[in-house]
Amino acid sequence: MNKVKRLSGGAFLLMAFATLNASADPGHDWTYSGEHGPDHWGEISKDFRLCESGRAESPINIEGARKAPADMPRLKINYRPLPIDVTNTGHAVQFNAALGTDSISLGDRPYQLVQFHFHAPGEERFAGKVSVMDAHFVHHSDDDRLLVLAVQFRIGEQPNPVIQALLDRIPHEKGAEFKANGVMINPLDLLPANPGYYTYSGSLTTPPCSEGVTWIEFKEPVAITQQQFDAMARFYHGNQRPAQPLNGRDVWEVN
Ligand SMILES: [Zn+2]
Repeated sequence: MNKVKRLSGGAFLLMAFATLNASADPGHDWTYSGEHGPDHWGEISKDFRLCESGRAESPINIEGARKAPADMPRLKINYRPLPIDVTNTGHAVQFNAALGTDSISLGDRPYQLVQFHFHAPGEERFAGKVSVMDAHFVHHSDDDRLLVLAVQFRIGEQPNPVIQALLDRIPHEKGAEFKANGVMINPLDLLPANPGYYTYSGSLTTPPCSEGVTWIEFKEPVAITQQQFDAMARFYHGNQRPAQPLNGRDVWEVN
C-alpha cells in the first residue's frame, strides 16, 4: 500500500530526485552557466517557475542561526551498506539507493534514502564561505515530504573509502549508470563524527526547485584527499546554484 501511495502522490518529485532531470527532455535542458543557467531556469519550463518566483529557495547563506528549541524533532540515522549504483546524470555524479528500509527519521517521521549526489564547490554558504565539495543525501517520506542531509568536504590526509569506491566506477558518459551488486558502500562513512547541524526549510537546488524541503546541514566537514577531490572535480566542477534570499526564514542550530 505504501508503495502505491508513494508512486501516485510523489511521482513527480520522486522522479525529479531520482534522475535529477538528466536529459529526458532536451527542450527542458538546463545548465549552470549561460542562457540556460540558474538566472534563466524559471523561463525554461512552466514546471520550473519556482526557480524564479520561489520565496523559500535553496541554497542559502547560513549566518546568525538561532539555537533550536529543546522540543525540536530529533534526527536519527539508520544507514546500512548499499550495493554500488552510480549514475553520471549530466549535472552531477549521483549514487542511487535501492528503496527499502527506512534510512533516517526526524522525530517520529521515517524517511527513505533515494539518492545522494555531489556539488563542487559546495552549494551552501557558511557566513559567506563555501567548501570545496558537498554531498546531498535526498530522502522521501511516505507522506511525500522531502529531506536533504548535506555534508561538506575539506581537503585532508585520509582518503574517504566511499569516495574511492565511487571514483573507481563513475561512468564517463553522461546518462550512463554503473551497478555492482557485489560491491557495497556504507553511506555512514560519508558523515561527520560530530552530529551538530543547521536546519531550515528550503527547496531543491536544481529545477524544478520545488519547495517544502527540510534541509539538515552538518557543521563538521568530512576529509577527502586532494587527489580524490581532483578526480571528482574532473566530472563536475561549477554545479553550484547561487545563494538564494532567506526572505525571513528561520535557521536553527542543533548541537
Ligand atoms: Zn544537490
